[in-house]
Amino acid sequence: MAAQLIDGKAVAETLINRVREGVDARVAAGKRAPALAVILVGDDPASGIYVKNKKRSCEKAGIRSVAYDLPGSTSQEELLAIIDQLNADDSVDGILVQLPLPKQIDPQLVIERINPKKDVDGFHPYNMGRLAVKMPLLRPCTPRGVMTLLEEYGIDPKGKNVVIVGASNIVGRPQALEMLLARATVTVCHSATADLAAEVGRADIVVAAVGKPKFVKAEWLKPGAVVIDVGINRLADGSICGDVDFAPARDIASFITPVPGGVGPMTVATLLQNTLDSANLNA
Ligand code: NDP
Repeated sequence: MAAQLIDGKAVAETLINRVREGVDARVAAGKRAPALAVILVGDDPASGIYVKNKKRSCEKAGIRSVAYDLPGSTSQEELLAIIDQLNADDSVDGILVQLPLPKQIDPQLVIERINPKKDVDGFHPYNMGRLAVKMPLLRPCTPRGVMTLLEEYGIDPKGKNVVIVGASNIVGRPQALEMLLARATVTVCHSATADLAAEVGRADIVVAAVGKPKFVKAEWLKPGAVVIDVGINRLADGSICGDVDFAPARDIASFITPVPGGVGPMTVATLLQNTLDSANLNA
C-alpha cells in the first residue's frame, strides 16, 4: 500500500494561524506586533523567491517585515553595520540574512554578529549550543519544522532509529540534536559514511538533506519507514524534486513528505513561529 503523504502545506497553514493567534494575543495585551528584518544581498533568483515567500507569510501572521534589499556589491563591513544597527533597534525582534551571500562576505562572521536573541534562523553558535545542551532557545527552522510535522502526524521519534543523511550546520546537524532531544537513537551520515544503504536500511525514520536529486533509493529503505525529504533540487526541465526517489519510495514507506509541499512550507512557517518566540523573549 502506498505511504500516507505528510501534507506540509496544510500543517504550515495551521502553524501560521497559530502564530497569528499568538501575535493577536500580544497586540491585545498592549504590545506591538513582532517585527522581522529580512536582509537580501544580491539578486540570486532562488533567494529572491524565498525572501518574497517569507515576507508574504509574515503578512498572513500579522508580523511586520522590514526589507533590506542590498546590492550584490555590498561589502562585509556595510552588512555588519546594518546588523549592528538592527541589533540595537528595540522595534526589531528577528534578523534574517538570506544565504548564500556574495563571495566577499563571510557568512559565519555575519551569523555570529546577530544578537542570539534575534537569531530567528537559529544558526548562531549560541543557539546551536543551547540545543546541544538540552536548553533550546531559538531553534533552526527546517529541523524544528520537521519535528512539528512528525508531531502533527502522531509520529513520536522516542526510542526509534533515526538516520539523517546530511550533516550541514543548517539542516543535518541541528536535526540530529532535535531528534536526540526527542529521545531517538540517532545516526548522522555524510559523504564519508562507508555504507549508506546499510545505515538507511536500519532507520525507522529517515531524514534526507543531501542536496542531490533522488539520491536516497527506495531499495535502501526498511519497509514501513517514515521518510522526510528536506531536499529541494531543480531539474533541467525546471521541475523540483527532493533527495529521495519519491515514486518507488512511496511504495515502501509508511509516511512520506512530497517535494514540493512537504518540509519547504514548514521552514517558512517555523520562521514566523521563531519570530513570535523572539518577540516574546525580548519584550
Ligand atoms: P549542504 O550541501 O550544506 O550539505 C549536504 C550534506 O550532504 C553534507 O553533510 C554532505 O556531506 C552530505 N552529502 C553529500 N554527498 C553525500 C553522499 N554522497 N553521501 C552522503 N552524504 C552526502 O546542504 P544543506 O544541508 O544546506 O541542504 C540539503 C538539501 O536541503 C538541499 O537540497 C537544500 O536545497 C535543501 N534545503 C531545504 C530546505 C527546506 O526548507 N526544505 C532548507 C534548507 C535546505 P559532508 O558533510 O561530508 O560534506
